[in-house]
Amino acid sequence: MQVTPSAAGHRSGFVALIGRPNVGKSTLVNQLVGDKVAITSPVAQTTRNRLRAILTTDEAQLILVDTPGIHKPHHLLGERLVQSARSAIGEVDQVLLLLEGCEPPGRGDAFIVNLLRQQRLPVQVVLNKWDQVPTAQRPEADAAYRDLLAESGWPIHHCCALTGEGCPELVQAVSALMPEGPQLYPPEMVSDQPERLLMAELIREQVLLLTREEVPHSVAVSIDRVEEMPSKGKGGGRTAVLATVLVERKSQKGILIGKGGAMLKAIGQGARLQMQTLIDGPVYLELFVKVVPDWRSKPQRLAELGYAEEGR
Ligand code: GDP
Ligand code: MG
Repeated sequence: MQVTPSAAGHRSGFVALIGRPNVGKSTLVNQLVGDKVAITSPVAQTTRNRLRAILTTDEAQLILVDTPGIHKPHHLLGERLVQSARSAIGEVDQVLLLLEGCEPPGRGDAFIVNLLRQQRLPVQVVLNKWDQVPTAQRPEADAAYRDLLAESGWPIHHCCALTGEGCPELVQAVSALMPEGPQLYPPEMVSDQPERLLMAELIREQVLLLTREEVPHSVAVSIDRVEEMPSKGKGGGRTAVLATVLVERKSQKGILIGKGGAMLKAIGQGARLQMQTLIDGPVYLELFVKVVPDWRSKPQRLAELGYAEEGR
């Protein structure tokens, strides 16, 4: 795993994609990250927002968070969706508001704009499906949306998520407004993998259980590799997991490793047993400890990584 220290000028953070259902959020995520990400269920996530896709460039790492579509709440479900999108807004660095460029703005759009204007986050607007707007009608369509967004001052981008037109410029613009920060994920990681998050959580649990007060809960765990190892001879196959425990200070690293590696061994054993239950098969777990000094300054990102703070 390469968690780069905060290289000068490198930027990273979370971007919420907000917009009505069907506006093209998932298509945009796929387009930005590449076809490796299979965005599956459009089912609303009613609890916390989940990371969906990770876009790594030379300059930045953007973690794209797909949110449920926002509607003006008419009933309880709508309210839940809005709540969930609101909480997503509270946990990201920037918002991408997707609007359907090929349709005139509607009341629902004004509702979303107002909601976002109450936040202090940077917002950029994507007029998506721009390919569906005949060239002759583009100035008019553009003007209608500029009216809607006039007081916001948000930058507007015209895109076609389907073909990728306008997307490189969009990535640049989004990256530029990100806070400076290190890569939060290995660059080859492109998507949210719930099983991995659970594995990380199990390791973190053991760290907290076994080290108690000595290592604060700003400890983070990253699952670097999960591999199926074929069976050799009589023994069956097993799942090999390589993981890194990130801490802030050298002294914490010492505690985690323990005398002669005893602590790390105990953490690994405890986590391995839990993982075997999780995946219902034998696990080989290799744990590393790494010091990443500025890790604690990103508590909201830790939460996003699935390492919720106590009581959450
Ligand atoms: P979501 O509900 O916001 O995630 O929307 P989806 O990504 O599922 O897209 C909804 C539909 O719009 C799909 O049929 C996409 O193929 C289509 N779509 C998305 N972006 C574009 C675009 O830029 N141009 C065109 N023509 N269609 C698009
Ligand atoms: Mg979708």
